[in-house]
Amino acid sequence: MDHTSIPKIDQLARKYNEANIPLYLSYPTSNWWNKPLDEDEFVKTHGSGLPPFLYFHFPYCRTPCYYCMCYKYVSNDTRHNDIYIDYLQKEFSHTLDRLGINGQNRVRHVHWGGGTPTYLTCAQIDKVHRALFSRLTLIEGAAAGKSIEAYPDEQILTEEKLRLLSDLGFTEISLGIQDFDERIQKTINRNCTTKTVHRIIDRARKFGFRVHIDLCYGLPFQGLNELEKSVKEVIRMAPDRVALFTYVHYPHIFPLQRKIPTASIPNSFIRVLLAMLANDLFDAHGFKKVGYDHYVKDNDVLYQALLNRKVIRDFMGYSVDHKREFMGFGNSAISFPGDGFYQNIQSLKNYYRAVDDARIPIEGRMTHQLTPEDRLRNEVIQKSILSDFSIRKREINRGFDIHFDDYFRPELEKLVQLEHDGLVDLSDQDTIQVTRIGAYFARHIAHVFDTYYDRREFLN
Ligand code: SF4
Repeated sequence: MDHTSIPKIDQLARKYNEANIPLYLSYPTSNWWNKPLDEDEFVKTHGSGLPPFLYFHFPYCRTPCYYCMCYKYVSNDTRHNDIYIDYLQKEFSHTLDRLGINGQNRVRHVHWGGGTPTYLTCAQIDKVHRALFSRLTLIEGAAAGKSIEAYPDEQILTEEKLRLLSDLGFTEISLGIQDFDERIQKTINRNCTTKTVHRIIDRARKFGFRVHIDLCYGLPFQGLNELEKSVKEVIRMAPDRVALFTYVHYPHIFPLQRKIPTASIPNSFIRVLLAMLANDLFDAHGFKKVGYDHYVKDNDVLYQALLNRKVIRDFMGYSVDHKREFMGFGNSAISFPGDGFYQNIQSLKNYYRAVDDARIPIEGRMTHQLTPEDRLRNEVIQKSILSDFSIRKREINRGFDIHFDDYFRPELEKLVQLEHDGLVDLSDQDTIQVTRIGAYFARHIAHVFDTYYDRREFLN
């Protein structure tokens, strides 16, 4: 952790506390989407075929994790998934019909997320997979394939299920671990031991899966010792990719988080130290950092994309930039068909009602048509700052027909202060470079270019 002195990190962490800064999984962030979309208009705009990346949401989980920010429903009864997958199939089929998309659709990547998609029984997985893939064909190539998220619970993620998923063509599995420490797990209501995860990974590897692991920093009672032990354990597991997400404590939005004592949440200084510690450990063990919070091996398609500056921050964390377009199905699923964002209805009851009415189940207020200004700032925030860690002004000028220094004069004035604090380097006329220490505050740097938030108080 040699980037800068500890008192300096403390000072920066207090000044640039990330607590109220968006994760920038999209720009504009979803709380600013507010352009109601008429279904006929939607159909007119999006009838040209499916985008290369499809997301299917499976909302049911067996137990609630208190830190969770996903759209999920908790049930001990797997029959709820019978109802859900029927509706998911109907939505998929109806949406394709409504868009006039016929026959087999060639897509590059299909991801099942949740919730806990592996909570589906084998029969349910087989049934919904058959229905969806009756209209889909995967094309070959980099970043192509089927991936699935999983809770590392052997009762749910059985050998039989892994075999089935492999037989169905799934090649990537993301195991949510967060932290192995018992006290932390108890506080967030999770339970997974290192032994269990080792066994699951061995089985997954036997069936040819690439294994991704999700960790989380900033969790209750998490200190440097706890995270260090967990990261070292994960490194021993030799995953193909690790995502190190930050815990966001918003109990006013996510009621289950009220079960987590606020006093147990690490402060902004500790959070930065946690991120730095994990970074150093992964770096020392040959992992390459991609973007803000992903660590991969050098044969990973994400790393290859990084070398070619093709990585993009998005709702999956980071992805290979296939023109960034994707479409989501299922309650709460988000889509980006190219010219804007929209989210499906979150509540299952209302989602089912919309599907019964043969409507495309879009949440009315959760749509946003990108303006030219949004596109420009989206490029600067999600691509230049949060993916490439540098803004190449000439490229932006060429791509958007602007003169960067004139267009972003107020932002450049704000960046002077960040340069003074060592977060960016403005010395090159053509490139704004995020520094090594600045990478830990990259969301703050991005925030300077966000016109949706009132930033009058920012940096005061
Ligand atoms: S963290 Fe995952 S398993 Fe836990 S409640 Fe959320 S979606 Fe379900």
